[in-house]
Amino acid sequence: MKAGVTTGRAHWLLFMASMLCASAFAEAPAGSATYPRALAAADSQKLAAAIERNVSPLAPAVPALIGPLRSIRFERLLGGVFLALDSYGNAEIHYRRAQAMAATFDEPADAAASAISRGEIAILTGDYDRAEKLSNELVQLAARADLPWAQAKAEEYLGVVARRRGRLDDAQAHAQRALALQRALGQEAGTATALSNLGTLARDRGDYAAALDLFRQALAIRERNDDQLELTLRNMALVYRDLGDDVAARDYFTRALDVAKRHGDSANYAAILGTWAGYLVDAGEFAPALAAAQESLAVSSAIGDRPSVGFDLLNSGRALLGMNRLEEADLQLHGALAIGRELNQHEILAHAQVSLAEVALARGEPAQADRMLLAAFADPQAARYKPLMAEVNEVREKIATAIGKPAQALGYAHAAAALREELLGTRASRRLAAQESQYARATADQQLALAGKENQLQATRLAQQHLQRNYVIVAACGLGAILLLLAWRFVGVRKLNNALATRNAEVESQRAALSRANDRLQQQADELFQAAISDPLTGVSNRGHLMRQLDSRIADCVRNGSELAAFMIDFDHFKRINDAHGHLYGDRVLVAGVQTLRQWLEPGDLLGRYGGEEFIAVVSGGDALDAARVAERLRERVAEAMTDFLPETHGAVTISIGIALLSRLPKPARLEALIEAADRAVYAAKAAGRNRVEMHAA
Ligand code: GH3
Ligand code: MG
Ligand code: MG
Repeated sequence: MKAGVTTGRAHWLLFMASMLCASAFAEAPAGSATYPRALAAADSQKLAAAIERNVSPLAPAVPALIGPLRSIRFERLLGGVFLALDSYGNAEIHYRRAQAMAATFDEPADAAASAISRGEIAILTGDYDRAEKLSNELVQLAARADLPWAQAKAEEYLGVVARRRGRLDDAQAHAQRALALQRALGQEAGTATALSNLGTLARDRGDYAAALDLFRQALAIRERNDDQLELTLRNMALVYRDLGDDVAARDYFTRALDVAKRHGDSANYAAILGTWAGYLVDAGEFAPALAAAQESLAVSSAIGDRPSVGFDLLNSGRALLGMNRLEEADLQLHGALAIGRELNQHEILAHAQVSLAEVALARGEPAQADRMLLAAFADPQAARYKPLMAEVNEVREKIATAIGKPAQALGYAHAAAALREELLGTRASRRLAAQESQYARATADQQLALAGKENQLQATRLAQQHLQRNYVIVAACGLGAILLLLAWRFVGVRKLNNALATRNAEVESQRAALSRANDRLQQQADELFQAAISDPLTGVSNRGHLMRQLDSRIADCVRNGSELAAFMIDFDHFKRINDAHGHLYGDRVLVAGVQTLRQWLEPGDLLGRYGGEEFIAVVSGGDALDAARVAERLRERVAEAMTDFLPETHGAVTISIGIALLSRLPKPARLEALIEAADRAVYAAKAAGRNRVEMHAA
């Protein structure tokens, strides 16, 4: 601003405006009685002051009582309480304290969170220098401690500050970074805020299609969360206002006001009410505009929302100008101008200047009005704000007419008309673009929904295929398992069979070996038995066996009542044979003699060696005569055989036989008696000359 423009009167106006603001910050603002919201805000301030009075004496003792970490949290909690009560000064004190403590005790997350709250307060109160400083510090802290959420918030604040100072490109870059960070973090509220800020920047540039699109995205998120919804609705209303769609603009304003009334956020309520007042002024509805602006002013003043106060003063002034209440209008507009300068907020400043020029013109001070406009809008940057410049040219046209410069007036009229034409064209094309964007978005949404359905269908199909495939896999696995089991069983059975076959072969060979061993044993046993019962020289029964056989035969014959004859057979003069031919020769004689005896006895007859050259033969059945005949035959055959077999003995080998008959023995018949009888009979045969048979008498 050029210093020369402001006069002594301007200073006086500034003073008056400051007084007005000061009175607005007092405990009970004059106008607040008529506005319940403002009253409530004022009560909040009183409550906050009371809390602060009670809490502040405790502050130095708190860290000692609860430790540094809890103290940080405690200070942040107090800050939050004061922020909720819209007591920004107190909130700032506690957040600052929390941040300082967090820095001291190296708690970067707490420090960042406190700085974020302080940044919010700085923006709310229009302290953009502090907001910028805090945000820059926050960027460094976030980078140092790796806190992307803090960086996102810092970028958001830097974007807001840059926009309010008219640096749209800077603001755009910061808001874009904030959006990217919030999206990466998955923070819905932060994402909605970043989208909303980008939308406002698009609106500033006149890109209404982009603005609508961005606001719609923010709206979708905020409708879901019911968070800051009123701000986005207000932003939508502003876009439609700029597009000249009054129906839509009023609809969105109504919705925004409804939500703001429902919510307890006084700052948002004041902001929306203030914007609504601005809209009513543009629409020429000055009385309701003034009412809305005054209520908003009461609330903004109560909570100390400086930018809002600035806008409210501006809108009040414009409404009063429309109602031709010029003195009041001038006062309010100078108040707005002072705040615009103080906050260095371009929008408030520029509009206040145009309106003040109009006031001067209405007062009949066209020269003063012209000077003001020249000073304010000589900056080529101002040409970027086309609606404002159209307004400026219209005011200048009126001024030129008033001071009798028709040529100049015509020039301004042309310039204004050209701008209006351009704006109208732009608006028309913007509305078209907005509609196209809406249509494109709706089509995209439809396609997205269709794609979603198709995806769902595809997913179901895939899931089914997956399920079927799983069944097939399970069945195949089951089959495989069964086959494996069978194969395993088969191999097992075959192995078992092989083992059994081997074992069987072993058992068989063992059995054969055992059988052979048994046979051998049997044979050995037989041989042993034979050896035990036989005479080794002649092979006939030995004496023991002969006696047992004879005893049993006697018992049989006694039982059957049949005859039994025992022959005691003694070789004659055997001593002489031995003496004449040697003992071995004698053996051969004995063997040959016994062979002959056996040959001529019946198979069932017994023959055994009784001892030395004495043998016993036993025949059963028949009678005494039969027995005598058998004995006689034996005697003859032996004699013949010896003559044939051993001719060198010259018929000298003969035998004598004594017969004992069982029937002739005294009863009960005994073996010993039978032997004795046979012995006596052979003795008789010897006595009678040898080579003969004798039967013992009864
Ligand atoms: P006698 O006619 O009275 O029976 O006359 P003897 O010589 O046959 O009878 P004696 O009882 O006097 O003699 C029996 C002889 O038989 C004596 C003995 O050496 C012989 N002798 C007994 N047993 C055997 C034997 O196993 N082998 C041989 N070579 N001689 C035997
Ligand atoms: Mg003898
Ligand atoms: Mg003899």
